[in-house]
Amino acid sequence: MTNQFNGAVAITKYDDSIGALQKGIDLIGGLEDLNPSDNILIKPNIVWSLGGAAPKYGLITTTRLIEDIIILLREKGCRKISIGEGSPVNKELGANTLKGFSWSGIGKIAKKHDVKLVDFNDAQVQIKLGKKHVDVARSAVESDFLINVPVLKTHAMTKVSLGMKNLKGCLSMKSKKKFHMLDLDEMIALLNTKIKPKLTVIDGIYAMEKGPLPSGRAHRMNLLITGRDVFTCDIVGSSVLGIDPATVEHLLKFSGISGKPIETESISVLGERIQDVCGSLEWQSDLESIYHLADMGITVQWPGNRFCTNCVICAGITFSCFCKDNLGVKIPPLEVCFGPDVKAKENSEKVLLIGDCAVRSNRSRKDAIKVEGCPPKIFEAMTTLMDNTLGKRRVKKILATRFLKVLLSKYGLYKERFPTQFPYKKPDFSPKHF
Ligand code: SF4
Repeated sequence: MTNQFNGAVAITKYDDSIGALQKGIDLIGGLEDLNPSDNILIKPNIVWSLGGAAPKYGLITTTRLIEDIIILLREKGCRKISIGEGSPVNKELGANTLKGFSWSGIGKIAKKHDVKLVDFNDAQVQIKLGKKHVDVARSAVESDFLINVPVLKTHAMTKVSLGMKNLKGCLSMKSKKKFHMLDLDEMIALLNTKIKPKLTVIDGIYAMEKGPLPSGRAHRMNLLITGRDVFTCDIVGSSVLGIDPATVEHLLKFSGISGKPIETESISVLGERIQDVCGSLEWQSDLESIYHLADMGITVQWPGNRFCTNCVICAGITFSCFCKDNLGVKIPPLEVCFGPDVKAKENSEKVLLIGDCAVRSNRSRKDAIKVEGCPPKIFEAMTTLMDNTLGKRRVKKILATRFLKVLLSKYGLYKERFPTQFPYKKPDFSPKHF
């Protein structure tokens, strides 16, 4: 028999109206502690700050839900509302949080409702997690009422990326890297002992399978999962995805630290029943199959949890473009390594190491081709991969075409589609949610 604790969670069906959100909040008394004069901070998930052709479904929080939350808060007389995020910064691509706000549609909503936008990367304070110091957004620590609005999605490293994982977005880029290099699951659990949202709404209008990248597959699930306790919300969210919460390492670790039971039966679930709405979404993904690399003759071992954000972006873009430009082409065997934990296979004749971590951990491979840097330059990774697998004329042609595509996309005259992306069609997938 598990102990009961105060962690009621509501599951409500989304019907394109504000009603599902209102009902979910009412069922769990989500705004009972709210004072209209509070400094309110809404933390969505805009993990992708590169914009471009990436489909938004199941990848980022729907703008429509953020707008509904703002409308409810305004009705309660709240004036001091901010939306904060710390999206990945990549100088080579010009990616940053402000671009993420604009691409996601949240920038427009903020303007419409006179809500302040906060780039978490701008102002940080140091906190201690276990024996380590990390930098987190000042506004997240100092807000009176933090509302956490993650997406219902799976994650290749942490199995699920829900409320607790979404708070990793409050860290500086340097501290995010530190999380990966230490113990990602443990650090997420510890972070949640310091940053405590007063309300969590998991956006399950769309859910992502084999996330977190745009190469995952979105499903329309039409659900909102609402609670005052982020941990219980995540247990329910994980169960709704079809993933046993007891197998999710950061949830297990948090259960150990806080003494709160991880069993779904310990939670009072209101509204819909988990068994009536749950799916069976796969979380595991591997780079070789996502990008059809094995078919072409490229070996890539899964880099593990210490494969941090900018190398994930580098791998995603490099392989997406290579796959699009060369699908069906057979190339001489090559192994590509990312991250600090992958050792090139002894029988790999040709090895490409991308990023300082991969270079350092494969020092003994004197014959390896190297793209150094932390983060590694994406353009250099792309061209080195092509130079070592394709003929010179083909490389020139691909580069000229890519240049033209980038130029045309910039002026809205071309929309890139990658073979890794699923075609999302109306009415299930509707751009009006963003
Ligand atoms: S080289 Fe890549 S994996 Fe290593 S710390 Fe830098 S960005 Fe992270």
